[in-house]
Amino acid sequence: MAVLLLAEVTDGELAFDATAKAVTAAKQLGDVTALCCGASAAAAGEACAKIDGVAKVLVAEDPALGHRLAEPTAALIVSLAGDYEHIVAPATTDAKNVLPRVAALLDVMVISDASGVVDGDTFERPVYAGNAIQTVRSKDAKKVVSFRTSTFDAAGTGGSAAVETISAAENPALSEWIEDKVAESDRPELTSAGVVVSGGRGVGSEEDFALIEKLADKLGAAVGASRAAVDSGYAPNDWQVGQTGKVVAPGLYVAVGISGAIQHLAGMKDSKIIVAINKDEEAPIFQVADFGLVADLFTAVPELVEKL
Ligand SMILES: Cc1cc2nc3c(=O)[nH]c(=O)nc-3n(C[C@H](O)[C@H](O)[C@H](O)COP(=O)(O)OP(=O)(O)OC[C@H]3O[C@@H](n4cnc5c(N)ncnc54)[C@H](O)[C@@H]3O)c2cc1C
Repeated sequence: MAVLLLAEVTDGELAFDATAKAVTAAKQLGDVTALCCGASAAAAGEACAKIDGVAKVLVAEDPALGHRLAEPTAALIVSLAGDYEHIVAPATTDAKNVLPRVAALLDVMVISDASGVVDGDTFERPVYAGNAIQTVRSKDAKKVVSFRTSTFDAAGTGGSAAVETISAAENPALSEWIEDKVAESDRPELTSAGVVVSGGRGVGSEEDFALIEKLADKLGAAVGASRAAVDSGYAPNDWQVGQTGKVVAPGLYVAVGISGAIQHLAGMKDSKIIVAINKDEEAPIFQVADFGLVADLFTAVPELVEKL
């Protein structure tokens, strides 16, 4: 079976981690053709061709495909759809914007956030904040699927797929780019970072969140937050980890002043090593932690920063 995979391309660069993880999932379905598109995408196409399991790369460069507008990308995918049984992507913000439009235009269902491939028609996906796994079978002739990257290992490199340049589809002109407001950060991106340090309501204020940031910077980590910390204004919205935030699975996750509600665990419980710092020894976070420190964070974190 033929699979069209929308590679994650941002400002001309391939997001390798998310794309390579989706390739691991997609190659279980058949021959993978990766689509790299954007105002510039040639370099991303070259990088994508090296991912193991990619049989072919299509590169579409057009100003209309820049600025992450979903509609022109969806139109391009639909124009290519005839040759493919599966249209897939990593479950990133961009793909979550594009794939439902593709599914609607093809009049099929979208299977979002798949965490497992059973067969060509059947997929597993987490429901109820990750407390149950639903098995979904689609009878649609074409399957439109996003893959939850935190549950797949990234495919390696060493491939040498052929790269073909194609034209963009006609721009449906349903949307127009005005401006980007991008949060600048020297820290790693939260969803692909190897280490994440998150703070919760226990941190107590926006000023004291600097403690979490200091620890993160010592560890070269991304900064995360619980929803309570975000809702209290201690941390920006795009740092939220959990059911209604970002899903992360780093090698090391440090939860500071976070109780461990199931909605938070839904976003981080697949982390390889979990460290919790909490002054309440009964806090549920300790049930999932590999290492737990029962301590006041205002003593423990500065000490940790100093020792590191
Ligand atoms: C539909 C829905 C979706 C949700 N989505 C999310 C989500 O995506 N992400 C998310 O995080 N939550 C989410 N929530 C909210 C979730 O239920 C919890 O309310 C939230 O995770 C609690 O955040 P917290 O652990 O920071 O705060 P709390 O539960 O208040 O815990 C604070 C912890 O800090 C500890 N503490 C306090 N002071 C100190 C100190 N000085 N030193 C050490 N420890 C200290 C306390 O012992 C406590 O364990 C959602 C809820 C709903 C209903």
